[in-house]
Amino acid sequence: MSIPESRYWNHWAETLNREAIDALHFKRLKLLLDYAYTRSAFYRDYWKRAGFHPDMVRSLEDFKNRVPLTDKKDFLQLQEDFPPYGPTVAVGEQDIAHHAETSGSTGLPLRIPFTDYDTERYGESWIYGWWALGIRPQDSFYFAFNWGNYAGFWSAYWGVRRFGAKLYSGGGQTTEQHVRNILRLKPTVLISTPSYALRILEAAGQMGVDLASSSLRFTYHAGEPGPCSLSSVRKKLDEGFGAISGELLGIAEVDAVAPGCRLRRGVHMSEMSNFSWSMDPVSGNEVGDGDIGENVLTTYANSAQPLINYRTHDLVRAFNRPVCGCGSTWRYLDGVVLGRSDYMITIKGTNVYPAAVENLISDVPGVSPHFQLVLSREGAFDNLLIRIEPEAHWDVSRWQGIADEVVQRIKDVVGVRLNAEIVEVGTLPRTELKAKRIVDTRELEFRRELDRSGGWAHS
Ligand SMILES: [Zn+2]
Repeated sequence: MSIPESRYWNHWAETLNREAIDALHFKRLKLLLDYAYTRSAFYRDYWKRAGFHPDMVRSLEDFKNRVPLTDKKDFLQLQEDFPPYGPTVAVGEQDIAHHAETSGSTGLPLRIPFTDYDTERYGESWIYGWWALGIRPQDSFYFAFNWGNYAGFWSAYWGVRRFGAKLYSGGGQTTEQHVRNILRLKPTVLISTPSYALRILEAAGQMGVDLASSSLRFTYHAGEPGPCSLSSVRKKLDEGFGAISGELLGIAEVDAVAPGCRLRRGVHMSEMSNFSWSMDPVSGNEVGDGDIGENVLTTYANSAQPLINYRTHDLVRAFNRPVCGCGSTWRYLDGVVLGRSDYMITIKGTNVYPAAVENLISDVPGVSPHFQLVLSREGAFDNLLIRIEPEAHWDVSRWQGIADEVVQRIKDVVGVRLNAEIVEVGTLPRTELKAKRIVDTRELEFRRELDRSGGWAHS
């Protein structure tokens, strides 16, 4: 008798009931608190000043309510004051096996030290998502990105090593070379950012190559909203590559925190390596199950630089019960990340998260993955214009209908009427790394205004 293959990488862990998962978290959090208190000068001092001691945590509720929050900007400041890593590190220099950095897209890059142990755990988080989608160690991975210092895709490499699959590194080649490599090497899985995968499809089209009939059976993405966040991106990738696309939500300095769901309408947290809860970003209180709140994380995957009750500023709609239907009991983020708690604008008196608008637009039939939200200021008021490229096969006579539908959906959900315009196919910028769908011109206008009034020194 043969044993049927499990749908899960770790069947036992991924189907535990909530009480058992929480009991495991509590044990691990207690150990982590003691570890950080003993090993990290930062945590010891910070907690003492806040009147906190690890012994005060007797339940998960205590953990959420009593352990002081941490934030990336504090770590950045400490690294600036005490380079290279600041007093937050909990291991000796000789134990650091890999130095990575965040992309620095929102300012100075954060330096991230990892021990060997950390890289193994971080890598394994990817595997839960790969396995759920149907990827197996017999598959072969093609990495289409320039490695650099960016932790995100290095961790995918650690995952492939742990998984035991074969890996091809495309490195920093041209998009056309990546297309030729895929045809020549015949990998079965493509790893890249979602927008770069779309770029590869465009380049292949221009070369007269149909990648839907290539060896690729899966594409897997991280770094920006992808197939589990945006249905237009999912459709475009699935059809373009003739493959199944997947998405992982990673946070460079934390872990490959949420490696996916096979039903692809959201992602599951990697609960063997992370504990998380949702917080009202204003009051600091926990929000209800299924309500939108900021994802606050604690990771067991970073022993070099522990991150405890760490604010991500990502707004999520999280469920601690199995609502998606895929069978996994791990915490589920419906729609992945819905917005940023530190990035909100006010339009006609209504608070709007541009990323939430982005998710709504993507679901409208006829909308291609190429669209932009242009933020501007008119007098004292913020304004948001939506520019959309229609899908190429949609007739011009139906364009206005697409724009009307976009405006209506946003009005229904967000409660504010925005302007949407359809632009010619191929006019919006394509990027190599992260798609920049939100264009904020307000800073520029502010500078121009100062310039006009003589208050701005040219630089
Ligand atoms: Zn699921």
